[in-house]
Amino acid sequence: MQGLIMNVPLTITAIMRHAEINHPATEIVSVTLDNPRHRYTYADAFRRTRQLANALSGYGINIGDRVATLAWNDYRHFELYYGISGIGAIIHTINPRLFSEQISYIINHAEDRLLFVDPLIVPVIEAFKDELKTVESCIVMTDEAHMPQTSLPNVQCYESFIAKASDNFSWPDLDENTASGLCYTSGTTGHPKGALYSHRGVILHAYASISPDVFNFSIGEVAMPVVPMFHVNAWGVPYAAPMVGAKLVLPGPKMGDGATLQALIEEERVSFSAGVPTVWLALLQYLSESGKSIESLNRVLIGGSACPESVMREFMDKHGVYVNHAWGMTETGPLGTVNTLKAGMEKLPDEQLYKIKMKQGRTLFGIEMKIVDDDNRELPRDGLASGLLKVRGPWVCADYFKMEGQSDVHDEQGWFATGDVATIDTEGYMQITDRAKDVIKSGGEWISSIDLENTAVGHPQVAEAAVIGIPHPKWAERPLLIVVKKEEQEVGKEEILAWLKDRVANWWVPDDVVFVDEIPHTATGKILKLALRKQFENYQFPNI
Ligand code: ADP
Repeated sequence: MQGLIMNVPLTITAIMRHAEINHPATEIVSVTLDNPRHRYTYADAFRRTRQLANALSGYGINIGDRVATLAWNDYRHFELYYGISGIGAIIHTINPRLFSEQISYIINHAEDRLLFVDPLIVPVIEAFKDELKTVESCIVMTDEAHMPQTSLPNVQCYESFIAKASDNFSWPDLDENTASGLCYTSGTTGHPKGALYSHRGVILHAYASISPDVFNFSIGEVAMPVVPMFHVNAWGVPYAAPMVGAKLVLPGPKMGDGATLQALIEEERVSFSAGVPTVWLALLQYLSESGKSIESLNRVLIGGSACPESVMREFMDKHGVYVNHAWGMTETGPLGTVNTLKAGMEKLPDEQLYKIKMKQGRTLFGIEMKIVDDDNRELPRDGLASGLLKVRGPWVCADYFKMEGQSDVHDEQGWFATGDVATIDTEGYMQITDRAKDVIKSGGEWISSIDLENTAVGHPQVAEAAVIGIPHPKWAERPLLIVVKKEEQEVGKEEILAWLKDRVANWWVPDDVVFVDEIPHTATGKILKLALRKQFENYQFPNI
């Protein structure tokens, strides 16, 4: 017998309808190239979104067509999120910092018909415009007055594209499993792979994200996603905010600029933000240099790579900003776990407290999680056993776009192998120890490169640190620590090793430390271990 409950499809269109009726006057504030502080309301945004939908439909964009964006966080990108998905097409958000071969590969693979491009990103595309096989037109996200000179073919300007379109549009009734968005993983190995999101997955993820143990969003919130809208939907903030009526602050191309972030936080009274650890370094450094404050900021969600304890402590102890560590992936939409403390934990002694807070956290309802050994046998949740992390849930990818059945990351029970190695403790807190391919195996035991890197970064003279495994005749592999010193600071190998000896297990202490000017990064700011391993492929430990 079926329940007698309305079967209302969970679609992104519903967020639009809800916000327009319930939160029409709530503001969206953006930084764009043509306006350093553009402001309008949800009512304005969704009126223009209907114009955009008419323009897209008039152009001939159909259900299932891919429309790409190469853009920063701003209001036009927000309109594209809703306008493209709302007509049943698929918004393909592209990271402009990827290598040009990767961008042209994914545009051709996705068969994008239109490209919406921020004016600052136009030169990136000009470099490989002749390789694009399916793009019919590029639409620059600005007005006529600010159109750049460009050699791109069939260029239009966003404001003119939507200007003549009516703001009356009847949104189609979509099946909730309709594809809504497409985002490729950065592909540190092999070609990038496309995670194809659905309306249903996005809505369930947004429901989960607004809850108290995750974003803790409510109508009084002012949310500033510093995670890019081209990276896993800015962790869902552009969907969660209009759901509850939170004001949105979008920092545009100024995401890495500490002064702009500080000004936006203070002047717009930002209370919540989210981003990867590296983006916060610029803000924290600006605050310490300028002596300025970020009083309105209440909470920051940090994830995407392991949050160094020093970053967490600076936010919490110096600026009174509460930090929640979180874990996720492009394939998990992205939120999988968030670290929120259980009752009583706040009162633990400082060292114990931070030990827990550094973990990646507990699962959101909807996500199931386990760790397994090499034979796919589940390992105990005792905080000690570490194994491959597997997840499943209603917003986790079931396959990759145009690769159905070809990848081996799903097992027969539908669990997705994340490629991360982790522990889960008795309280349910998961901790990532490594990427499976980065783990260092010394004498049969695993050494966590993440732990070593974070401990090294805690040294006052160290700006950045990376650890890779180097072949060793006796132990199979031993860790090598690669360090970038802070500007105009001096520190020697012995001093760093002594620092580590006091803080990690004896046999974890790296066999050597080398100093470099720069550590290579992926487009999303993560350490590019592949390139480092190549750089040090002929390296030999001095003691051998
Ligand atoms: P990319 O496109 O760079 O692969 P993803 O967001 O898909 O971007 O990367 C997901 C991976 O990032 C995870 O599998 C994990 O290895 C790493 N990661 C994410 N959050 C954390 C975290 N809080 N701590 C450690 N690693 C993390």
